[in-house]
Amino acid sequence: MKIGLFGGTFDPVHRCHVAVASQMRDRLHLDRVLLIPSGDPPHKPPGTLAPAFHRLEMVRRAIAGEACLEASELEIQRPAKSYSIETVRTLKEQYGPGAELFFLIGLDAFLEFHTWKDAPMLLRLCHFVVVPRPPGRYAALTALPVLPALDPAALAHIDSLEQGQLDIPLPGGTRLILLALPPCEASATDIRRRLRERLPLSNLLPASVESYIMQHRLYQEASDRTRVEG
Ligand code: ATP
Repeated sequence: MKIGLFGGTFDPVHRCHVAVASQMRDRLHLDRVLLIPSGDPPHKPPGTLAPAFHRLEMVRRAIAGEACLEASELEIQRPAKSYSIETVRTLKEQYGPGAELFFLIGLDAFLEFHTWKDAPMLLRLCHFVVVPRPPGRYAALTALPVLPALDPAALAHIDSLEQGQLDIPLPGGTRLILLALPPCEASATDIRRRLRERLPLSNLLPASVESYIMQHRLYQEASDRTRVEG
């Protein structure tokens, strides 16, 4: 059983989240991809997210009808801050030794990976699958302290889409998999700004998520978050 884990604040979930999850499912032949909205994420200021039940419900709606994509309540059910190492350990226990876990992540988030709790241990527990996120370049990974030495020429081939995938063996028998995918331009920060400023959403959201946001009037008021984001 090959299981993809795709964590995020999903505030809100957007078109590129769904595209990334379904492309990874297909490219890596995953049996299941869990989209795991964070409850109280360690890397964002507290009190700045939409309530977790709304974010979870939007994920459910966004992936309805997508084969093998599932919303997971694992992190939002936890009363304390959720660290990825705990999520991975819990899922490893839940799925047992027969399961292979693939941690799916955008390049922007992966470039911060060395600051995560128990980062080296995480790399030993599951495979990491990175997808490009403009304007980031895989070439920047040579500076990431927790990774083995990476070949700059190989990274350049992935950056230029000349090669579709680069597999790098990691200590402990896991792999770092870098995928070349066509860039997908959407960010939740930009979508929240558009909603506040009543600007067009230009298909950045699945229709079911857009109607949920309108129905519950999410992201439409200037709030503390506006100040945090400038
Ligand atoms: P925010 O703007 O609030 O930071 P976001 O759009 O980055 O939100 P997250 O929920 O923080 O969304 O992201 C979850 C995961 O999805 C992260 O690994 C992130 O890198 C990845 N991701 C988000 N948007 C894209 C995109 N357009 N292309 C590729 N990966 C993406």
